[in-house]
Amino acid sequence: MVLTINESRFLKNFAISSSIGATKHNGLHRLTLSKEDKQMRDVYKKQLQEAGLKVRIDDYGNMYARREGRQKNAPAVTFGSHLDTQFNGGRFDGVLGVLAGLEVMEILNDKQIETDFPLELINFTNEEGARFNPPIIGSGAVTGQFSKDYVYNLQDEEGVRFEDALTDIGYKGKEENRLGETKCFVELHIEQGPILENENKDIGIVQGLQGLTRLNVVVNGFTNHAGGARMKDRKDALLAAAHMIVTVNKMTEEIEGLRITVGKINNYPNSINVIPGKVSFVIDIRHPNDEMKNKSVKLIQERLQKVAGENNVTCETNVDWAYDMVPFDQEIIEKISDSSKELNYSMLDLYGGPGHDAKYMSTYTPTGLIFVKSIDGISHNENELTEDGDLIKGANVLLNTILKLATN
Ligand SMILES: [Zn+2]
Repeated sequence: MVLTINESRFLKNFAISSSIGATKHNGLHRLTLSKEDKQMRDVYKKQLQEAGLKVRIDDYGNMYARREGRQKNAPAVTFGSHLDTQFNGGRFDGVLGVLAGLEVMEILNDKQIETDFPLELINFTNEEGARFNPPIIGSGAVTGQFSKDYVYNLQDEEGVRFEDALTDIGYKGKEENRLGETKCFVELHIEQGPILENENKDIGIVQGLQGLTRLNVVVNGFTNHAGGARMKDRKDALLAAAHMIVTVNKMTEEIEGLRITVGKINNYPNSINVIPGKVSFVIDIRHPNDEMKNKSVKLIQERLQKVAGENNVTCETNVDWAYDMVPFDQEIIEKISDSSKELNYSMLDLYGGPGHDAKYMSTYTPTGLIFVKSIDGISHNENELTEDGDLIKGANVLLNTILKLATN
């Protein structure tokens, strides 16, 4: 049996979400635990209750909506994502997974379908990390990655504590309401990359999340006057850093699958007529194969030292943050693939970036992740766009995948 969602209800719910925290240019500014987040949560909670779901809130503000199955004490089939956004972010990142989840519950009600396993839809707190850094806090905390003390004492730029912000918006629930026994977790999300669009495929079947290493680089030169020092005597840290960035970027031509990004750089003293004496930057290094990634990191460190020598500066590197690939559950991958096939959608196996609730959930329960197209791969931006047809396809795949997982 292939089920499909109620498209107009789903898109109507999307329009409601898109109006709460709306920005001038069609985006969303709905930082976690802000008044906009509260407003969205209130609307969403009401929708859940009207759908006859039992809503509970845990001590991190995570919202769970439960629909009982035939087997009362069986582990729950869980699914969801997040309703918070970046600063001037998009309307789809995270929101899709939650609203598609709501539609799954609604359509099962409409069709009076009773599943074997209970279902739970989750809205995780602070996936984005835009207001309280680090990201992926709600799912990280309930899966044992962060302590309560650590989370509660996180502060935003204004010095507001996480716990106080949670209390302020009225979403500090009980510890006993946390994630319980689960059979599995499935997240539907926009791709936030251009691959599905470039390959012209409907559904991305995410095999795993790519590993990542962040390498901090500090280049030490010598600060001097732009008018005085002769060119050949200079120890220009910024010029050396420029050579380094080009060099490591070129390495992606040698090593297939390697992705290198330098997105953050600090220059000292950053003054027009002063030769830069110190530069620090961070290299984001990714590869779907952990062994190749780790080899690449070593090679990058060697090359940086070589470029430093050629430029008369010194260079220190240290690994700031690293983790290996997170593979997803094969049985769930199969069910996502079967559902896409039954719906006659084209599909593609791919790998995701690291930032999703599915990442920490996979340490707790068998997990799967479904992607739909993002136009031009743009995300964390007001221009983020996934077309209605693709939102609907994603929701249909989620619906049928959940049905399969919730049936004995
Ligand atoms: Zn997201």
